[in-house]
Amino acid sequence: MGSVFVTRAVPGDALDRLAEAGHSVDLWSGELPPPAADLVAHLATADAALAMVTDRIDAQAIAASPSLKVISNMAVGYDNVDPAVAADAGVWLTNTPGVLAETTADLAFALLMAAARQVARGDRDARAGLWKTWSPTGYLGTDIHGATLGIVGLGEIGEAMARRGRGFGMRILYASRTRKPAVEAAIGAEFTSLDGLLEVADFVSLHMPLTPVTRGLIGARELSLMKSTAILVNTARGTVIDQAALVHALRAATIAAAALDVTDPEPLPASHELFSFPNVVITPHIASASLATRSRMARMAAANIVEVLAGRKPINPVNAPAMPRMPLT
Ligand code: NAP
Repeated sequence: MGSVFVTRAVPGDALDRLAEAGHSVDLWSGELPPPAADLVAHLATADAALAMVTDRIDAQAIAASPSLKVISNMAVGYDNVDPAVAADAGVWLTNTPGVLAETTADLAFALLMAAARQVARGDRDARAGLWKTWSPTGYLGTDIHGATLGIVGLGEIGEAMARRGRGFGMRILYASRTRKPAVEAAIGAEFTSLDGLLEVADFVSLHMPLTPVTRGLIGARELSLMKSTAILVNTARGTVIDQAALVHALRAATIAAAALDVTDPEPLPASHELFSFPNVVITPHIASASLATRSRMARMAAANIVEVLAGRKPINPVNAPAMPRMPLT
């Protein structure tokens, strides 16, 4: 049957599912992603790719892979592949929506709380022997309960984040491409413009996809609209923020703190200025990283491959090739 290039080891039984469907698995077992040349070399003979967001698969790589029929991303985001370019070549692109929303919102809220209450800084100081006494003026943070949470991009993860905010007694504002009356009714979220949200929110949490429109959406102007007491949380993609502008805002203390699961670049070099701010919390792109969720994502990615290689439409397409490449016979 087909040959599936799997670009990293994945948890759970996803690879067994591929084998059960009769496909052979070419597994890249390196801890780091395959370098571009290896990615191209392995794709060249593959019928399918089970890929990660770290695998940039461009038009040249697709053109050099004549038997490739589907790129199945183990992620909800798919900014590592141009859906239209893949579709033009007859290649399906699929993702794993939904199954990671709650887990990702858990981490987004953990980051919000960590930044608000100086959890990471407190831990660093305690370990370094800097915990001298209880102090009435030490580590004064920001209350979460009763504060206003501004969500940019009210999709699956944004909505899960909004529910968490409601659970903490927060007022929820959102700015998104489409208004969501059902979410407004269910959890009392209030629709507003992006500028209106930035001016009012105590916490701004980013949940939109990376697209040509959202790249750099939070730039110097947007950061300047935020309150000096406000905290910015990003679990979307690093480049939705103009990172140089963020560093400038932190230096000038025009915002209070930032908590980032995604940066530009990734990994962020240890010497980067963002690491020098005690009021910045950084995690290494781990928002979907629970064993159960990553196992579900891998299984879903495998299921999309099984469908396409059997000549069926994938379960979670993000493009629609007019003339999909011929299925396996
Ligand atoms: P989703 O359900 O598609 O939600 C994205 C939302 O953003 C949608 O409501 C969309 O509007 C809205 N949006 C699109 N363009 C916008 C714009 N220009 N301004 C404001 N809102 C805009 O996706 P999701 O599952 O919530 O995931 C969101 C993103 O999170 C992913 O694309 C991915 O990059 C990131 N993510 C990161 C991690 C991590 O490990 N850190 C994990 C999972 C996901 P419509 O409703 O009109 O479509």
